[in-house]
Amino acid sequence: MADRQHYLQCPICDEMVSATVVAAFDGEAEARLLASLVQGRLNRIVCPVCGHTGLAPEPVIVRMPSLGTIIGFMPVEVPRNRKAHLAARLQRQLEQSVGPLRTVKVCFGSAQLRRELPQAPWKGNPPEFQHRFDSPGAPRYRRIALNRALRKRPDDPVLLTRLGIALYDLALFREARKTLEEALARGPDQVDALYCLASVNLDDGNPAEAQRLYDRVVSATHDPVPRFLAGVAAYRAGQLHAALERLRQAAGEQPDLLEAHVWLAIVQLALDDKESAFASLRHAVENGLRDPHLILSHPEFQPVRSENAFKTLVALIERLHDRNAAKPGRPDHPAHHRRTRRGPRPARSRTH
Ligand SMILES: [Zn+2]
Repeated sequence: MADRQHYLQCPICDEMVSATVVAAFDGEAEARLLASLVQGRLNRIVCPVCGHTGLAPEPVIVRMPSLGTIIGFMPVEVPRNRKAHLAARLQRQLEQSVGPLRTVKVCFGSAQLRRELPQAPWKGNPPEFQHRFDSPGAPRYRRIALNRALRKRPDDPVLLTRLGIALYDLALFREARKTLEEALARGPDQVDALYCLASVNLDDGNPAEAQRLYDRVVSATHDPVPRFLAGVAAYRAGQLHAALERLRQAAGEQPDLLEAHVWLAIVQLALDDKESAFASLRHAVENGLRDPHLILSHPEFQPVRSENAFKTLVALIERLHDRNAAKPGRPDHPAHHRRTRRGPRPARSRTH
């Protein structure tokens, strides 16, 4: 298989996108690639900013040795007046490099490819993207690009959601709220918009509304992270028992979600149940908490800081932390790392 780096401008938000695309391969030796090509999924690129997806407009060369055929595939529906010209150019190019293969064919689009290769696999295989971009860039650039994209598609709920998340990341809560509400008005099933709107409310001092929205995200996704955040929101809204229930469940569902154990301890302390609070902190340590800051940064633990059980626990974490430091490459608290990949989340200052 040969691949190359390809740069193109997103047609929706004008962002420059780079991707490694497949340029040539043996269709018999690499049947999975051929299946993806026939299904129109090979070299599909997702714009990291606006989420637009499209095929890289680059030819793909497929060798089929047992048929004695080499195929030049053009992924786009090229305008009729340019088609003949492009086909002739690709044909010439292939004929020069054909080697032992006898037949050269040029196909435009996957329908034609299917006609040329009726035996090719084109069913089965769940849809998947060859390239995914999970690093959407700095929020202020995302904001600019998404506003550009919205000029072309002003009602698109996905674009509005992404813009809302960028505005939230910039801590522009009022604008974020307005944009996310608009996204939900146009696309009520946009769970990411709901999720981010919950975080806007949590960070902007409306914890009761945040809890209600996180609960709706949980009903849609059954994800322990928004459940944990619903617990934090409930605590801030003064609903200690609602908080206890959500945090307990989140910590049970995802034991390495260390903040859930820590916040459970905070709520238990507020309910005057010190014994359970220390047990929750011990669970956090058992599940991998190695950074004492995750506990000490919470002023809620101030009243118990001089107690022996608390001091012993912190000393234990520090010992484990030092031992961990001797083994580079091990993440300090895996749950945190996982959470950072989940898109909208509350500002750090609120949950740490
Ligand atoms: Zn884009």
